[in-house]
Amino acid sequence: MAESAEQVHARVMAAADERGRVPLPSVAAWDVFPWEVVDGQLAAKPLAAPAPEEARQGQGGVDCAACADRPQGVIWAHDRWRLRHLSERSGLPLVLILEPVDHLDLPDLDDAMAAEHGVLAVRIARIVEGLPHVARCHVQRIGDGAEHLHTWFMARTAGLPSIRGSFAVDWDDILPPGPEDVWRADLADVARQLAAYDGRAVALDG
Ligand SMILES: [Zn+2]
Repeated sequence: MAESAEQVHARVMAAADERGRVPLPSVAAWDVFPWEVVDGQLAAKPLAAPAPEEARQGQGGVDCAACADRPQGVIWAHDRWRLRHLSERSGLPLVLILEPVDHLDLPDLDDAMAAEHGVLAVRIARIVEGLPHVARCHVQRIGDGAEHLHTWFMARTAGLPSIRGSFAVDWDDILPPGPEDVWRADLADVARQLAAYDGRAVALDG
């Protein structure tokens, strides 16, 4: 069972400084981070000049991390799709990635695969939103970092008003991760519930 809002708040406050702040996440130093402080005021960065698109990881299926022999963090799998967690816990209760077994991007899916992607997305969102203390499961495909399709499922805690809307993605980087045993129990629960529809739950590493 995911932590309640009160449990998350107490844990984060215990890790925060005297003003209730936790350290800035590394994303704040990324070139694509859109804000900066100018003359003591928060401001949007100037729009960078046009530049050639950067190659994505696994472009053309070459050295694709998702196509590696043994993909890491898989909690559920069947012949064409798998669901996995990230290599490390993060600030939100659960962050999951749905990806095809074959090297395909979203526009590459044929109608049958597109239909399966839709059905799986609904099942995963339904399961994650059914977990105690989870209000929403945000679903998104961005795909600027890697070519192999990876659809994100991000659970946010119910009753924490700071973490609403698309800024949940930022809070995932800001907040310290919760207890590992809670996270592992929720991962196993999601995998078991998804396997009740189709596919198989995969035992967690470690
Ligand atoms: Zn791939």
